[in-house]
Amino acid sequence: MNIHEYQAKEVLARFGVAVPRGVVVKNRKDVDSAIEQLGGDLWVVKAQIHAGGRGKGKIVTPENARKVASVCHTGKDAVAEIEKQKLSLSKGVTVTNDRAKVKSIVETVLGNHLVTIQTGNAGKSVNAVYITEGVDLIKDPIGSQLRAGQEKDFELYIALTVDRETGKVCILASREGGVEIEVVAHEKPELLRKIWVDPCVGFQEFAGYQIASDMKLNPKQQKSFVKLIDGLYRVFTALDASIVEVNPAVVTADDDVVALDAKINFDDNALFRHPDVEEMRDSTEEDQAEQEAHKWGLSYVPLEGNVGCLVNGAGLAMATMDLILRYGEKSGISPANFLDVGGGAKEEQVKAAFSIILRDPAVKAILVNIFGGIMLCDIVARGIVAAAKDLGVKVPLVVRLEGNHQAEGKAILKDSGLHIIPADSMADAGEKVVKAALGEI
Ligand code: GDP
Ligand code: MN
Repeated sequence: MNIHEYQAKEVLARFGVAVPRGVVVKNRKDVDSAIEQLGGDLWVVKAQIHAGGRGKGKIVTPENARKVASVCHTGKDAVAEIEKQKLSLSKGVTVTNDRAKVKSIVETVLGNHLVTIQTGNAGKSVNAVYITEGVDLIKDPIGSQLRAGQEKDFELYIALTVDRETGKVCILASREGGVEIEVVAHEKPELLRKIWVDPCVGFQEFAGYQIASDMKLNPKQQKSFVKLIDGLYRVFTALDASIVEVNPAVVTADDDVVALDAKINFDDNALFRHPDVEEMRDSTEEDQAEQEAHKWGLSYVPLEGNVGCLVNGAGLAMATMDLILRYGEKSGISPANFLDVGGGAKEEQVKAAFSIILRDPAVKAILVNIFGGIMLCDIVARGIVAAAKDLGVKVPLVVRLEGNHQAEGKAILKDSGLHIIPADSMADAGEKVVKAALGEI
């Protein structure tokens, strides 16, 4: 589960992490009192959505967002297209010392869409804005290591996540934080420092000082940075987070380290232990199809391709996605989703799975790939037929059934009178569904 930046900062502050003060505004008429409350003479206006990349993101009207989405595939493409067509009204994060501008930016941002590299091509509707006191950034005395010889603001990157290979919490840090962190990760990953924390021992200050000295911080900055990491580690473990990320943490003129941005993801499987975390959920930010899938006990992840997949078992579902890519990649065909109906799916679940896949207008064909183990092929076949009839499935349906009761299952499909394309093997299924998606069969 994901939360907004303003909520993440409230959590961090509770654990003793230094964050700038801020006020959430959901209505333009509350801007004056927010500025009054914050005081000072520098403010940051930050759109609150469950996605990052806001600093480089673009605010557009919902109509323009839809227009751009219809010709683009990813959030990255959409950002470039908005720039090309000059449709951007503002950015997702604006720093200003002009009160009137704070007001006008809030008005521009609320109710419009923010498109970033992480949002997908249509962006996300902005329903809340966080106005924070602005922090003056100082220049990094060492300069940029990413682009040698260039000046840069003093922005640090710090993140905690679980490393599944070692079963430990991994702490990542870089002196090259800020909006360019993706470039660092791709082009100069050696500028990202990693340490692993043994869960039996917990975070130790000396380990923090090792990173802090690698970041080439002075002693006062180091102390402040280690305190920050200690706070983040306590948040991570106490609340069962899966990611805690601060980008950037900045060094102030007084050599303090402050978290200017914060992102926390929580482990869904541990939410039952944290009703206070569950209370921060903003369902309007969550994908409707994912919520529906969750309700039916289906594991569903939407992707950006055009072949819907309905599979039993996570391993087979992964292999099915590989299969579609293998046969389809050259002709622009790729999986539209990951969907695992689980080991013992019932007829209604199969039907729910179909309706979730069909919500995605990009789907041009569906591949059903079932191995009948616990789940019997005839039960699945009945689910497919019922769903196809009830939902009026209009896209071609390729079905591979193998295992327990496969003969009965295949007979049910054949006798249904529906246009179902049977497949005899994995390879056959992959070839056929790609052809079907291209309209060749
Ligand atoms: P993100 O792009 O979604 O990660 O949003 P951030 O909250 O990280 O903001 C993007 C960038 O805006 C940061 O990397 C900073 O460079 C800048 N920024 C954010 N807050 C402040 C601030 O208080 N003062 C200044 N000068 N810049 C800020
Ligand atoms: Mn950030």
